Amino acid sequence: MTKGLKIASIIATVAILFFLILYRPYDVPYRDNPAGSETAAPSYGDPPAQTAEPTLTPTPDPQVLKKSAECFEEGVRLLELKEYEQAKGWFLQVSEQDTEHYDKAMELLAECLAGIKEIRLEAARASFDKAHYRECLSIVEQVLPDLPGDPDLTDLANQARNRLDNPVLYDGPVYHIFFHSLIVYPELSFDGDSMSDGYNKWMTTVSEFKAILDQLYDRGYVLIDIMDMFGRDGSGKVYRKEIRLPEGTKPLLLSVDNVSYEEYRSGDGFAKRLVLDDNGEVATLVRTPEGEEIITRDGDVMPILDDFVKSHPDFSWNNAKGAIGLNGYEGILGYRTNRKNPDWEKEKNAVQPIVDALLANGWRVANHSWSHSRSFSDMSITLDDLIKDTERWEDEVGSITGSTPIYITPFGIEFRPGDPRMRYLVSSGYYIVCSVGNRAHYDILDGFVLMERINIDGYKMNYARKALAPLIDVDKVYVPRRPPLE
Ligand SMILES: [Zn+2]
Repeated sequence: MTKGLKIASIIATVAILFFLILYRPYDVPYRDNPAGSETAAPSYGDPPAQTAEPTLTPTPDPQVLKKSAECFEEGVRLLELKEYEQAKGWFLQVSEQDTEHYDKAMELLAECLAGIKEIRLEAARASFDKAHYRECLSIVEQVLPDLPGDPDLTDLANQARNRLDNPVLYDGPVYHIFFHSLIVYPELSFDGDSMSDGYNKWMTTVSEFKAILDQLYDRGYVLIDIMDMFGRDGSGKVYRKEIRLPEGTKPLLLSVDNVSYEEYRSGDGFAKRLVLDDNGEVATLVRTPEGEEIITRDGDVMPILDDFVKSHPDFSWNNAKGAIGLNGYEGILGYRTNRKNPDWEKEKNAVQPIVDALLANGWRVANHSWSHSRSFSDMSITLDDLIKDTERWEDEVGSITGSTPIYITPFGIEFRPGDPRMRYLVSSGYYIVCSVGNRAHYDILDGFVLMERINIDGYKMNYARKALAPLIDVDKVYVPRRPPLE
């Protein structure tokens, strides 16, 4: 037999089996006949019975009746507790043979459905009012099969769809928030060593970050892509693009700085590097306080935000996530890709699929300088050194990530527009420049836009509560375990 024939005969056998299972010719209709021959079917010789047709209504099986009565009782009990979903399940099991309970069960089932509708409609309306239109739709879609064509539900669903399909112009302020790599184990970060104070000021913990996301979402913020906010025309002029979002939502930009997972931090409760998990999704490799290395999605901003958007799709417009500010001096994302490392090529190959996965999933990359040198912080860096730094970044980082127009200045410094160093950055293609500040603010300057970003970390949560107030309520976020700031 050829291979083709073999496959064909297997398919035929499977098809016949399926047919037999579905058709079940051996499965004759159930007929309870405890009285034996008295109600036996008429023989072929008899005329067809007109009035006394042998009954097909089975005599109820006492077992079935007992079970049915139990289901009914359980349904009644749960309905009294307003556990509509559960009660519904029990009423649906009441047997049609159970004439004592069946009609009443159907009546109470209708009561359950009305209760379910009331609860779900209220939840869907609450989502709608928070401008969580996808969430609203999904609540309605879950309950519609039980209440097909219900006018209240379909009307609300149509309104939500309408909001999603017809985004409106937004021209209010746009906040840009940023974080450093998250603290996974505060007990290791705040252990009193020389680094503790810096972590306490400039870092955010995983649980704080999650609480921040909850609040931003609750307030109707929606992540957008910074490339959807600013553009540059043929003459090199930068302009703000039109932002259109579902009515009632507010755009938000997010970035993460210094994502290198430097060696000096190992043992201080941060992730060691980004990895791909078994599903090919970006996760973190983390060392627990017990010294065990685990792969978790809870180890830094990127996988946590990816998961949050997955479960709250309203939080992101067009799957936008944020910009990852990369340095080069210790490589990127926990891989030692700098040419100082003899194994840099191997590391580069290892990090490439992770970069590709991030870029494919709504993340952008920003140049955050190769060196993150102190000479930036006091603005003493020379033009020559800036050129070397930028070329090195493009060689060691840009060759992996692709080029980017986003430059996140180290230490949040701002070069003035006429500064030759700024002119150099613009001529190298960087026209979206991000610094650090306290406002939702940007200036379109000579060939570039300079945008302030607000860090949400220990320092700002202590000293800039007012600046953060439009974004979060610090009291609902701040981890009391943090030591007091010095
Ligand atoms: Zn930095």
